[in-house]
Amino acid sequence: MMDWTANEGRFLIHLLPDVMAVFEAYVQRSLPDPESGGILLGTVHGPHIEVTHATPPFPTDRRTRYSFERGSKGHTEVADQMWEESRGIIRYIGEWHTHPEDYPSPSGIDLREWKISAAKRTDGRPVIGLIVGRKGIYIQGTSAAGKAIVYQTLLGNCPALDQ
Ligand SMILES: [Zn+2]
Repeated sequence: MMDWTANEGRFLIHLLPDVMAVFEAYVQRSLPDPESGGILLGTVHGPHIEVTHATPPFPTDRRTRYSFERGSKGHTEVADQMWEESRGIIRYIGEWHTHPEDYPSPSGIDLREWKISAAKRTDGRPVIGLIVGRKGIYIQGTSAAGKAIVYQTLLGNCPALDQ
């Protein structure tokens, strides 16, 4: 579940172990767990993306079992700091959040928000939307024009999340 591909192998996404560890910490395993989420940061190599950081939920986020809304404080500051410290190498890649379902799929709200985020991007790159379920992960790229590309994992299942 760390390597993903789309567009017949021309696009690749690699998730580093630290990123997987953040996801695992917030999987909605039990009924009262709220949704979690944050921003994905990483490096871009042509059509390939390496996700190096995922921000954890911050106290100003609004979290319920079926919704997650990023608050005003935290995520953007981390993104800006990483961008500066890495001299522009580590950049905003997209957004992640959890769903209380085994194999997640995006809601209408998710699709709409990814389109809005993609249209707002100044570098013209697609926004990666990632959903962490209980047993699987969903990854989609959304272009500035609103076109969606769904990524497939290179491995059949997810040993890290399958516990
Ligand atoms: Zn969602």
